[in-house]
Amino acid sequence: MIRFEAAAKTYPGQSRPALDDVDLTVEAGTTCVLIGPSGCGKSTALQMVNRLVTPSAGRVLVEGRDVAGHDPISLRRRIGYVLQGVGLFPHRTVAQNVATVPGLLGWDRRRIAERVDAMLDLVGLDPGEVRDRRPDALSGGQRQRVGVARALAADPPVLLMDEPFGAVDPVARARLQDEVRGILARLKKTVLMVTHDLDEAVRMGDTVALMREGRLVQVAPPETLLAAP
Ligand code: ADP
Ligand code: ADP
Repeated sequence: MIRFEAAAKTYPGQSRPALDDVDLTVEAGTTCVLIGPSGCGKSTALQMVNRLVTPSAGRVLVEGRDVAGHDPISLRRRIGYVLQGVGLFPHRTVAQNVATVPGLLGWDRRRIAERVDAMLDLVGLDPGEVRDRRPDALSGGQRQRVGVARALAADPPVLLMDEPFGAVDPVARARLQDEVRGILARLKKTVLMVTHDLDEAVRMGDTVALMREGRLVQVAPPETLLAAP
């Protein structure tokens, strides 16, 4: 479970808070999508969860523990992170990318190799075909699949996704969204995701949290959100 308790952030030199008194709970095994215009504080909120951003006030709990009390290595194991497109290491093969966190955790070589193939298979890629390629030899959709495989490689209970499908062409995007939603539901991951695309929020979210100027405006299941005036 992820919980924001009166979380706020004012960046140095800024007069207005990027995030202002946010209370939000993402129940275990569900996906919450933060949506709102550019600059409304979505990434700031997301990055508080894995300690890339430190709150100016309030706190963020993951599985009941204040993230400020986690050491960075244990956070990496507990919290997967999917970024738009650029997240992969360009000079590493697909297999090396997927192996990043297991490698940091010191898994033995055979366990890593098995895990890499299982993860590629999970996200709908043929391990034999893509394992040894570099990211630039893949399509946008394939790269995003590798990004998801990498984030899930050490089986973290929590997953953060920042505009995960932004670099995927619109035709492939809907299918990829449905597939990834299915995978996350099946694995019972607790997911916090950021987008500015309402269709994506409705397709992916169990709850959708609408943000404006650093504040939460509405938190609701997608059906209710659409019905709101
Ligand atoms: P979003 O993800 O919704 O686009 P962000 O969380 O990136 O919004 O940004 C929220 C606000 O905080 C914006 O006004 C942005 O300019 C500002 N901001 C983000 N990161 C920094 C930073 N490192 N230093 C100063 N201001 C920042
Ligand atoms: P090799 O010598 O074949 O690179 P290692 O045992 O060093 O094998 O690493 C196994 C895998 O873990 C590799 O695919 C590598 O990409 C990944 N790995 C190891 N250390 C790191 C690290 N510090 N950062 C990212 N990935 C790593």
